[in-house]
Amino acid sequence: MSEHDDVSGSSPWTPSHDEWTALLDGEPKYRLDQLWRGLYQEQLEPEQISTLPKSLRHRIAEQFTPSLTLSARQAADNGKTIKWLWTLPDGPRIETVLMHYDRRSTVCVSSQAGCAMACGFCATGQAGYERHLSVGEILEQVVAAQRQATEDDSRLSNVVFMGMGEPMANYDKVVESVRRLITDVGIGARKITVSTVGLAPQMRRLADEGLQVGLALSLHAANDDLRTELVPVNKRHPIDELIDCCRHYKQSTGRRVSLEWAMIDGVNDRDSDADELAIVARRAHAHVNLIPLNPTPGWPTVGTPPDRIAAFARRLTDRGANATVRANRGTDIDAACGQLAGAAAGTNTGQQAVTLRPPRRPDKHST
Ligand code: SF4
Repeated sequence: MSEHDDVSGSSPWTPSHDEWTALLDGEPKYRLDQLWRGLYQEQLEPEQISTLPKSLRHRIAEQFTPSLTLSARQAADNGKTIKWLWTLPDGPRIETVLMHYDRRSTVCVSSQAGCAMACGFCATGQAGYERHLSVGEILEQVVAAQRQATEDDSRLSNVVFMGMGEPMANYDKVVESVRRLITDVGIGARKITVSTVGLAPQMRRLADEGLQVGLALSLHAANDDLRTELVPVNKRHPIDELIDCCRHYKQSTGRRVSLEWAMIDGVNDRDSDADELAIVARRAHAHVNLIPLNPTPGWPTVGTPPDRIAAFARRLTDRGANATVRANRGTDIDAACGQLAGAAAGTNTGQQAVTLRPPRRPDKHST
């Protein structure tokens, strides 16, 4: 495997099918099928793939080690929401959240360790940027979620890039991960959503990739003054430019962009905010998702109460905008991005202690 030093030493989910084909050169072809099936259909680590000879398993495991080590795990909503805190080999911590719905599940993955976008209401933004995640580190989060979904008698059907980090800032790795999710993991393109706080050039690029993925724009404010305060990158890419990007995305992919709006009590939940948002949503040909804000230690605000969220949604629809109120999962487990990492690092005062559990190993395949 020496000629592939660029992928060795990394996650077993980093090499593509072609790369594994080259790495297993000299082995019978069915070994590749066994490895591929073990990694992607059974979600096993190479050492656990008992159909492979021990010597080959060990040879692979010497060069490819899973990147995610479990540091904490929390469950909420009667086990319907599960959040993991992972430590990467070089030290940074990232989070993944799995949400179960009626026999189907959605995983929210991180695309960076930390984030440089500095949104004031976001725990990850407050902690700062560490580094981009690799394709293997992104896929491994999905594989971990698939394992858990199977264990909970569910099926992982959706992947959203809404965890730690700004996915568009790690564009190449995120887009490659999306392609691999479709071809290797078997998640339909329309079941994948990539979010952004509004990196306009990358929004345009994504529109032209020929992918049918959903695009979610975290808008949170519909005038530039307030939005720049909440989401500093708005200074570089103001709302008018983002509206153009949304229209281009719809034109190019046939899919409406969704505008994410964290409802923040007394900040962006006034009648005037709804009126401005309705205009932006109509111009952008976009759908609005209203989400109650998860409280973030370090930012002195709370989410809008449910009755006011309902009234806000009604005001939007009365003004011709499409809007849905989303449930907020896992408020009691620090489910807003970056909060579990902050709690574990002791930066979020007043958070509950996190529960430490060993990583799950599928016993029947262990050797
Ligand atoms: S909201 Fe998203 S883009 Fe903004 S700081 Fe948090 S992780 Fe980064």
